[in-house]
Amino acid sequence: MKRDTRLTRTGQETRGAEGPINPSIVRASTLRFSSLERMRDVRARRDTGERIFSYGARGTPTAFELEDALCELEGGARSFLYPSGLCGIGSVFLAILGAGDHVAVVDTVYPPVRKFCERVLKRNRVGVSFFAPGVRSLEAVLRTDTRLVYAESPGFGTFEILDIPAIAELTKRRSIPLCVDNTWSAGYFCQPLALGADIAVQAVTKYICGYSDLMMGAVVATEQWWRPLHEFGTDLGICVSPDDAYIALRGLRSLSARLRRHEENGLRLATVLSESDEVERVLHPAFPSCPGHEIWKRDFSGASGLFSIALRPDLVDKSDQFVESLRLFGLGSSWGGYQSLVLPIDPSPLRTATAWTGARRLVRISAGLEDPDDLIEDLKTALAAIA
Ligand SMILES: *Cc1c(COP(=O)(O)O)cnc(C)c1O
Repeated sequence: MKRDTRLTRTGQETRGAEGPINPSIVRASTLRFSSLERMRDVRARRDTGERIFSYGARGTPTAFELEDALCELEGGARSFLYPSGLCGIGSVFLAILGAGDHVAVVDTVYPPVRKFCERVLKRNRVGVSFFAPGVRSLEAVLRTDTRLVYAESPGFGTFEILDIPAIAELTKRRSIPLCVDNTWSAGYFCQPLALGADIAVQAVTKYICGYSDLMMGAVVATEQWWRPLHEFGTDLGICVSPDDAYIALRGLRSLSARLRRHEENGLRLATVLSESDEVERVLHPAFPSCPGHEIWKRDFSGASGLFSIALRPDLVDKSDQFVESLRLFGLGSSWGGYQSLVLPIDPSPLRTATAWTGARRLVRISAGLEDPDDLIEDLKTALAAIA
């Protein structure tokens, strides 16, 4: 079966043809066992790493269904769920790194991850180096004690696409696990694990949910790397509610249809904006002006609806006014939902490995599922207001 078909079926084989299409929401802390022997057997299997329903905090059947679908999406061996995307990312760091270790993190990382590195990791005596988005700059910061490479593609706000296969070649040679934040592609347009990465993380909060009403993170790992993540989650009692797992799984079932529309709307808006006098530059991986565009063409099967623009230098100071003139684009940060959003971004203070030389102020746009003609009219009116 093709992938879109599989994504509407995962986890259902065991339920047979009769009964509801969707899984039950199994709310549980305690599980009762029929005998002590049975209880001991389940616990023993659980302690070897087998995914088995044993206690609420160790995952419910509803959460297992979502995990299966995420493994299918990202092409991994095991997947783990977290109360937010950021919690999933922090868990990867803490599961793999200890005092005296070093981690290399891409300079264009989601800003709260940088803060996590600067506060939590430093306090735990983990060395952190940021590298400019490119293989050479990564190679320059790698050390003998580097135990993790953390990448995000495309980059936060500025959309540089990383050469994951080239980075993976470098990390594999040194047996360093490579973790990639794959939220932008939703796991649908790109599979970092197939490109050589060991761990893929995603904010399920964004496209997989799709309705701006859920917080969740997911980590999908290869056979070689799932164990430390499994152990860390167990040791900390990390779990998600079965109700939230159900909502996320329902979102995942319609991901392919929604993402195609996000892609189409994003491309329409980006094209119109790129042709507008008031716009200096469009930062969208599907546009040749975006760093890594050729890599995007090679490694991604499409583009989601999130991109940025820079206004003409003489209009850059009016970016806030432009944002506030928009009527259909909500002012908000957590993208991937059905309503279009807009956010001013200043990349300069977010970079430490290299200085940002582009526009002082960018405007990030999350294209929702509205009729693109309405969105375009709104953008044109707001541009005219500042011109
Ligand atoms: C939003 C986001 C996260 C964090 O997800 P939350 O669920 O909001 O914690 C991580 N990475 C990227 C790229 C994001 O956009």
